[in-house]
Amino acid sequence: MINIKDYEPITGSNTLDELYSLAEKLKGKRIQNINSTAVGGGVAEILTKMVPLLNQLGVAARWNVIKGDGKFFNITKKFHNALHGKTEIFSKEDFDYFIEVNRANLAELDLSDDIMFIHDPQPIALVEKKNEMKNSWLWRCHIDVTEAQKEVYEFLKTYIDSYDSCVFSAPAFSKKDLTIPQIMISPSIDPLSDKNKELPDEFTASIFEKHGIDLKRPVVTQISRFDYLKDPVGVIEVYKKVKKHNDCQLVLAGGGATDDPEGMQVLEEVRTAAGQDADIHILLLPPDDLQINALQRGSTILLQKSLKEGFGLTVSEALWKEKPVIASAVGGIPLQITHKYSGLLAYSIDGTAYYLKQLLNNPDYARQLGKNGKENVKNNFLITRHLKEYLLLFLSTSYREDITYF
Ligand code: UDP
Repeated sequence: MINIKDYEPITGSNTLDELYSLAEKLKGKRIQNINSTAVGGGVAEILTKMVPLLNQLGVAARWNVIKGDGKFFNITKKFHNALHGKTEIFSKEDFDYFIEVNRANLAELDLSDDIMFIHDPQPIALVEKKNEMKNSWLWRCHIDVTEAQKEVYEFLKTYIDSYDSCVFSAPAFSKKDLTIPQIMISPSIDPLSDKNKELPDEFTASIFEKHGIDLKRPVVTQISRFDYLKDPVGVIEVYKKVKKHNDCQLVLAGGGATDDPEGMQVLEEVRTAAGQDADIHILLLPPDDLQINALQRGSTILLQKSLKEGFGLTVSEALWKEKPVIASAVGGIPLQITHKYSGLLAYSIDGTAYYLKQLLNNPDYARQLGKNGKENVKNNFLITRHLKEYLLLFLSTSYREDITYF
C-alpha cells in the first residue's frame, strides 16, 4: 500500500505537513463516504486511494457501498445517461423503485457519522435520514449535469437541496437553481499508482513492440473507452488529414467494450473508418494500468478529442508524463490545459488536425507544452491537492456544525 510519506519527493514536505495539520483539526470527527460500487469507475478509483490516505493522516474516514439489484442499477444507468443529456423514458415506477431501494439501504446502514459524504445520484435519497441524524450531509456530483434531462434533474433536485452543500468537479458544472452552497473540487491523479508511476524504458518499448507499433516513427494516441462522446471516428479523420503531410501512426486504445453493446458498435465503426491502414492501431485492452501508462509514456502526442467530457482524467495522466496534448475544450479539459502554454485546445476536426501537424513539425514546441503541462498537473491535479481540499471541506462543514446560534 502507498504510504503518505512516499509523496514527499514529489510534493515537498510542506504539503504533507499541511495535510497533517489540517487532519489534526478533524480529530474526533467521523466521516463516511457512500457510493454505489466498490470497483470500477473513477469514483471507486479515487475512494480506494483517498480513504486509506485519510486514515493514515489520522482522520476517521470510512467508505460504504449501497446495495441494489439489477432493476435498480438499470434505472440508475438511465439516470446517468439522462443527466448527461441523453433522452430516456421514465415511469413513475422507476422513481418509486429508486426511492424504495434507497430506503432499504437506510434501514441497513449506520448513518451516524459527523459528516456523511454521498457520491453521485445512486445513493442520493439517503439524505431522507438527515433530520433524524442531525449531522452534516455533503453530495459529491462527479458528472456534468449542465444539460441534464429536466424530469430526472428535478427529481434529484428535491434531494440535492436537502444537503448542506454539494461538490462539483468544474465551475462550469455549477447549477443556478440550487439553494445550497456549491463547492468546486476537481478530481486528481495518483502519481505513485501503476497508471502514472515512472516506468523503465525497456518496459514501455516492449508494450509498443507487442502491438507492432514502431517507436522510431511518431505515434499519436488517444486512450479512451470506445464511446461516441470520445469521438474516435473523428480522431481517425484527423489522422487522415494529417497523414497527407506528415508521417505518423495512430493508436486508439480502450477497454471495457466487450460488455457494453454500444461500445462494440462504436468499435465496429472505428474499425470500418480505419479500413486497411496498417498505421492505425486499434487496441481493445483488458484493464491494465501499466500498459496504459506505457502507451501514454511512449507516445509522441496524446489526443483527447471528446465531444463531451466529465473531467477527463486521461488529460492529466498524459500531462503528468510530460506529453504534449491536443484536446477538445469541453468539460474539465480547459481547467487542465492553458491553450498554447500547457497543451492545445481544439474545437473541430480541422482544428485538431492543424495543431497536430504543428506539433509534429515542431518537436521543441511540443516538448515545452508537455513540460508546462506537467507543472500544471503537479500544482493542481495530484491526489495531495485533492486530499487538502477534502480536508478543508470537512473542516468547514464541521465548523458550521459546531457553531451555536443564539
Ligand atoms: N482507461 C483505462 N483503460 C482504457 C481506457 C481508459 O484504464 O482502456 C482509464 C484512463 O486511463 C482514465 C480513465 O480510464 O484513468 C478514464 O477517465 P476519464 O475521466 O478520462 O474518462 P471517462 O471514461 O471517465 O469518461
